[in-house]
Amino acid sequence: MKHFKHMQAKSADEAANEAADGEAWVMAGGTDLLGTLKDEIFPEYPKTVVDLKTISGMDGISEDGDALRIGALAKLSDVAENDLVKAHAAALAQAAGRVASPTIRHMGTLGGNVCQMHRCWYFRVPDDRFHCKRKGGTVCPARVGDNRYHSIFGDDGGCFAASSHDTAPALVALGATVVTTKREVPAEEFFGARGHRSNVLEDGEVVREFVVPKASKSAFEKFALRKSIDFPVVNCAVAPDADGAPRVVLGGVYPAPWRSKEAEEAVAGGVTADSAAKAGEAAVSVAKPLGKNAYKVDIARTMVKRTLMDIAG
Ligand SMILES: Cc1cc2nc3c(=O)[nH]c(=O)nc-3n(C[C@H](O)[C@H](O)[C@H](O)COP(=O)(O)OP(=O)(O)OC[C@H]3O[C@@H](n4cnc5c(N)ncnc54)[C@H](O)[C@@H]3O)c2cc1C
Repeated sequence: MKHFKHMQAKSADEAANEAADGEAWVMAGGTDLLGTLKDEIFPEYPKTVVDLKTISGMDGISEDGDALRIGALAKLSDVAENDLVKAHAAALAQAAGRVASPTIRHMGTLGGNVCQMHRCWYFRVPDDRFHCKRKGGTVCPARVGDNRYHSIFGDDGGCFAASSHDTAPALVALGATVVTTKREVPAEEFFGARGHRSNVLEDGEVVREFVVPKASKSAFEKFALRKSIDFPVVNCAVAPDADGAPRVVLGGVYPAPWRSKEAEEAVAGGVTADSAAKAGEAAVSVAKPLGKNAYKVDIARTMVKRTLMDIAG
């Protein structure tokens, strides 16, 4: 690990100003960022790490009319256990409760979960040994390499990494808005593979909070190889849009959460065992698995059906 300065921010704006030149990186719980710095996965290294945890009032969870406001520094354990989130954004509470382990959920924040970098093993290899497309290289090694955990719906800007944040599909399904120090971005437009980031944030832009419309019924399911401390192979969230029609969003299948319009059309007339099964088929009808990950197509089909059945009836 190289040396860096450690700054304790007093406000989101102060943190954003400090990080504006790209030489300071922000940190919340540190459960993701510190590992990448320790392994020196990037060709570049921050001069300063700006600690957001010292900002007061950015970890609240409150009701605001038809929505919930959740601060970016809210711990995942608080999001999972909060009564408002459980009642009005069940998919998000369930997703937060399925992240990693109790220890990581007590350290990790919702903002950090949403902004975590991709878990692709080529991207994450220590000492930047695979200078992949995301780091300015010319190829994505996963295209023909060991791609068993990668995208089954194609690439984003040449990158085949799969999104690995559990809460992201839930926020997209719930129609949440990400409020940053510069703007408000619909969660559906927030994610992707952009440089080392998994989102549209620019240097000097910090997430303050999430505005999550209340939903009467929503659900989240996750398939991972282990029952605990494991990233999703595939996850899925379902929540109603403003007209009550289910939004169906998969994670772990593309570099960003993947909203399946095909699945949504299949359940437009209502969610039944039959239409949920058809939605699973429809969701994967456009899959383009790589050499070693066709098995994920079967899991995605089942995740869509199972999550829809969670909100049926
Ligand atoms: C063993 C292990 C298992 C894990 N399992 C899972 C899992 O099952 N599911 C899952 O989803 N994740 C998992 N994670 C990933 C991750 O650690 C957690 O998702 C956690 O929520 C990250 O939150 P953090 O606050 O610690 O983020 P940090 O490490 O502090 O930050 C992560 C990234 O987000 C940026 N960031 C943080 N906060 C903000 C903000 N407010 N504004 C702008 N940028 C910000 C940082 O600059 C950094 O790039 C796991 C991690 C480990 C080490």
